[in-house]
Amino acid sequence: HAKSAGRSRYAVFGKEMDTMLQARRGIEQDLRAALQADDQLQVHYQPIYSAAGRKITGAEALLRWRHPEKGWIAPDIFIPIAEEAGLIERLGERVLREACTRAMAWPITVAVNVSAIELRNPAYAKRVAKLFFSLGMDARRLELEMTESALTDNSGQCEENVKALREMGIRIAIDDFGTGFSSLSRLQRLDVDRIKIDRSFVKGFGTGNGDEAIVQAIVELARATALKTTAEGVETDAQATCLEEMGCDNLQGYLLSPPRPASEIDDLLGINPSSRSVEDVITTL
Ligand code: C2E
Ligand code: MG
Ligand code: MG
Ligand code: MG
Repeated sequence: HAKSAGRSRYAVFGKEMDTMLQARRGIEQDLRAALQADDQLQVHYQPIYSAAGRKITGAEALLRWRHPEKGWIAPDIFIPIAEEAGLIERLGERVLREACTRAMAWPITVAVNVSAIELRNPAYAKRVAKLFFSLGMDARRLELEMTESALTDNSGQCEENVKALREMGIRIAIDDFGTGFSSLSRLQRLDVDRIKIDRSFVKGFGTGNGDEAIVQAIVELARATALKTTAEGVETDAQATCLEEMGCDNLQGYLLSPPRPASEIDDLLGINPSSRSVEDVITTL
């Protein structure tokens, strides 16, 4: 009896696996099509604010995919599939190009997420340099975000890329800090500029599990090593006030702003192409 139950469980499991793999292959194919199409992939930007004064200091580029039948698909779903399917470099290049073009029109730093796969490619830093040259972009306007795990490859290739990117003047931020295993001393050796404190810590504020103490310690250690700090996932006033008092430099989260289309960032920054053309019309009349 147990044996047959086991077998039927296995059959169900096998079927689920099959469905999952099929769904994955489907997404992979649709993603290839999306890269050819022009209207499915967009980049949204989430503003980042100074903790003291709450002024916009930057924006993070976040890729958005609107599937023709399934609607919006979350990056947490399609980015890992793109990485496995060998599509992440093309996606990454698209986002970087779009973000740099925006950065050149905005008076703020633009941050772009880089995948571990991209960083492992020996040609990555050179490709970024080429793009900057062709756009005439000032490297200091860009920040690249990478996770701790992206930096823990054995080949040392990621570190080579980071070094080359730093030499170009690009700033480096460690994303989702606290979820991996990197020490601040290693980050300092890599000459990283910023750590982004993972939103799971901010979420834990007020729950009595010690997350405030952890974040306070991270902020103080970061200060001592001249690293800037951004808190992710700030959703409440209480969290924002607490982070500001701790000495955290920047805040990002739904409380301040969700990710928005580029045109809305134009508006927030007071760069409105349509109102400018109206002004032009008025002055030439
Ligand atoms: P991330 O880089 O840590 O980006 C922050 C994520 O937190 C974004 O999710 C953002 O929408 C979300 N978020 C912002 N504020 C809040 C908040 O107050 N509460 C909560 N609960 N969430 C908040 P999103 O856009 O779904 O992106 C998820 C992840 O996908 C990103 O995490 C990043 O790792 C990856 N990703 C997105 N775009 C790209 C890209 O162009 N390239 C690469 N390689 N990865 C990307
Ligand atoms: Mg990020
Ligand atoms: Mg993050
Ligand atoms: Mg993340």
